[in-house]
Amino acid sequence: MVVNLLHLLFPQECLLCGKTGKWLCFACRAKLSLAQNQICPVCLRSSLTGMTHFGCQKKNSLNGLYSPFAYRKEVKKLIGSFKFQMVKSLADTMADLLLVELKKNNNLISFWRKNKFILTPLPLHPIREKWRGFNQSLLIEEGLAKSFNLSNSSSFLKRVVFAFPQVGLDKKTRQKNIKNQFLASPAVKNKNIIIFDDVWTTGATLKEAGKELKRQGAKSVWGLTFCR
Ligand SMILES: [Zn+2]
Ligand SMILES: [Zn+2]
Repeated sequence: MVVNLLHLLFPQECLLCGKTGKWLCFACRAKLSLAQNQICPVCLRSSLTGMTHFGCQKKNSLNGLYSPFAYRKEVKKLIGSFKFQMVKSLADTMADLLLVELKKNNNLISFWRKNKFILTPLPLHPIREKWRGFNQSLLIEEGLAKSFNLSNSSSFLKRVVFAFPQVGLDKKTRQKNIKNQFLASPAVKNKNIIIFDDVWTTGATLKEAGKELKRQGAKSVWGLTFCR
């Protein structure tokens, strides 16, 4: 709360270089590195549109993944500021950055619109959300839904187990740590859903969330993350 109040009293400054004006100045914005390609969320090999390869599809796997930015250097710093310094109003900046990249991929947006995909944020456990004061993924996802004219819902998934953060765990431990953490609403049945999260690391979290949505009958599930 104190942090938010301070941001009301003092002007925004670029989180990367300190220049006064915006959370991200024009020069630093240009420095954010883009992911070199999109990948199939199952085999992690290149996929032109991010759609899961035909041969990789399994019943409960994600149907696609789109992550425009590369999780390193400036992008890493930006995400860190958002998560840990609780800069709530950074959500608009990040939604904006995502929009610019997604607009370059108009086919994907048309595909999502045509098939009535519904955006949903990756939920935090209520205790963690209370501690942090907000769910950063929810804030960005709401901005995106509005700009893209996509429906959204924040009641599709719940986090029912309070687990350790995934940061610093190896791939195998992450998979174990995240197992059965989510509970999907029966309302997801036959729906096409895009789960939004800020970062794709090993994908364990998004995959587990997707699996749970499919267990409740979701028709197809895409992952959308700010970076990878
Ligand atoms: Zn800057
Ligand atoms: Zn594949």
